[in-house]
Amino acid sequence: MQSKNITKFCIVGTGFSGTAALVHLVKQLIASKLDCRNIEVVTIEQRQDNGPGHPYCNEELLPTHLCNNQTYMMALFDNDFYDWLCERRTELAKKVPDLIKVTHPDLEDVALWQPDQDAFYPRALFGLYLKARFTQYCLVAKENGMRLRHFNDCQVLDGQSTEEGFALQFRQSASLNATTQVFDKVLLATGHWNSIKQSQYDDRVLTSPYPYSRLNSWLTKQLQQGKETTKHICIKGMGPSGIDAILSLVESGQFSHNTQGDATAFIADEHTIKLKIHALSRCGFFPAVRDKRIEHQFKYLTEETFFDLEQKQGKRLTLDDILLLIDKELKDASEGAIGWHEVAHPPFSSALEKLKYDATLPQDNALIHNVLLRVRRMKFYRYLKPDEKQRYDSVLDTHFIRTAVPIPLLNAQKLIALFEAGILSSCQLGYEHKDAIKVTKTDMVVTFGQPQKQLHADGLILAAGQSFKLARHPDNLVKSLIARGELRPHTEQNYQTGGIQLLGYESYRAMRTDPNTQQVQVSPYLSSFGVLTRYWQNERNFAAAFVEAAQSVAHDWVDHIYQKTMPQHSRTDQDKVHA
Ligand SMILES: Cc1cc2nc3c(=O)[nH]c(=O)nc-3n(C[C@H](O)[C@H](O)[C@H](O)COP(=O)(O)OP(=O)(O)OC[C@H]3O[C@@H](n4cnc5c(N)ncnc54)[C@H](O)[C@@H]3O)c2cc1C
Repeated sequence: MQSKNITKFCIVGTGFSGTAALVHLVKQLIASKLDCRNIEVVTIEQRQDNGPGHPYCNEELLPTHLCNNQTYMMALFDNDFYDWLCERRTELAKKVPDLIKVTHPDLEDVALWQPDQDAFYPRALFGLYLKARFTQYCLVAKENGMRLRHFNDCQVLDGQSTEEGFALQFRQSASLNATTQVFDKVLLATGHWNSIKQSQYDDRVLTSPYPYSRLNSWLTKQLQQGKETTKHICIKGMGPSGIDAILSLVESGQFSHNTQGDATAFIADEHTIKLKIHALSRCGFFPAVRDKRIEHQFKYLTEETFFDLEQKQGKRLTLDDILLLIDKELKDASEGAIGWHEVAHPPFSSALEKLKYDATLPQDNALIHNVLLRVRRMKFYRYLKPDEKQRYDSVLDTHFIRTAVPIPLLNAQKLIALFEAGILSSCQLGYEHKDAIKVTKTDMVVTFGQPQKQLHADGLILAAGQSFKLARHPDNLVKSLIARGELRPHTEQNYQTGGIQLLGYESYRAMRTDPNTQQVQVSPYLSSFGVLTRYWQNERNFAAAFVEAAQSVAHDWVDHIYQKTMPQHSRTDQDKVHA
């Protein structure tokens, strides 16, 4: 039984979300001046390391796998990633020069490196930052009397509400025996999952481009079969993961750069010379290239929030109204040159033509980025009707993501170089054919274009990103929590948006079903943010949103200690501490 005096918090998953939660909990506890000696924080993570999680894991990535945001937009708080790079500049230049050179190929001596807050650094470097800050904040917590326990290489298998708290069952990977511990509060920060099982396919298909080591051994096998022949490798998905897959496949070759550091050509080696890489997606284009934000005086999308916009327009805005406002905003600012149609159907005959245009950083793209990003940040998705949400998810989200989440210029230049070296080509699969890619025992065929053409592939890498359908979540923990009613899939009328149900729009507290009364209620124990939660993809998949969520959960947990230890203490007093 748990001691009544000790408050026990558990963070499940220590990727960016779990790390942000730990850092902000420690910060807020210290600021609260509470006696921390009766607080225990337990972290449970199935990887060896705490901090990087899936997208930033040094061991699973290549230096060429870049963050899709500039340094100043990626931090646990303030401009801390950049500050950390500056603090550790000399040490990093010595220890991980490859993670610096890739972003600054023009730098002759890496010892002279000056971190650039506008640059895109490798995700592995961001992972090292997260790992370092995780360790540092654990030390700070200990110095302030908190008890900390970390379980790594350890998977949480199940959980259940009890009268004493939330009982979590977890197991070390090498052990057959599970342990159960009871906590006052639990954060589920379990992040990304892959619902495609490798066992569904034979070894011609790779179900994820990560980790790099797996892709590399897969590629080696592909190249060994029928040694002298050209290998046609298809990549399904042209977003950031698809680009990572392409860069992984050509890792043994070399990009050449001009004196400004731009990638100008690709020099193939004995392996890459045999490759024909075909990038496939429904729209057939890569995301736009990220440029500096422009100042734009909004004329139609004038308000900061969607709620205010509806108030101003004096009516409920439908999905079509939103598309119309985007169209008007774009047309007005571009004197009619671009509108929604050009966003959904980029006027280019190929991905290469569009990449070449994007790489010149045209004003049009900066405008589209600005407008689409503003609309997403207005959080309009939550106000759509279920049938509109369904339509948005199936056919429109792709256009928003492709334009609102652009790629670094360096990646675009590398893709152009690969096209020009004759190694890369692209295919537009279209939105109509669900089975454009057919994998049979004897063949792998991609059907595309009008009139229809066919492409026979030797290998296929699935890199189309995250499916949010909870019914296909592969982990026992999530399956079991949903089966027990401790979590609920978020459903609106009959449409399941993907992700779990939370209390209201701005809370991260999970909803549950009481097993006795079948009533839906707020879980007294569980919180969650990140990929597992509803609307994440549409509203909160950027670093600052994770930080905001971590601060909110930390605030709830500190509040819980106040309630437990000083029930007479009002929340307003506590809020003053965190202000
Ligand atoms: C390829 C890729 C690139 C991205 N690049 C960027 C970028 O450049 N910039 C940006 O802002 N965003 C980026 N994102 C978005 C990304 O979602 C967030 O930045 C963030 O890293 C998500 O962190 P997380 O902690 O929620 O999830 P994750 O990083 O997935 O971490 C979850 C952790 O939980 C652990 N875990 C899961 N289940 C269990 C269990 N049952 N028991 C114990 N441990 C468990 C996992 O091992 C993992 O370490 C990227 C996403 C992807 C997929």
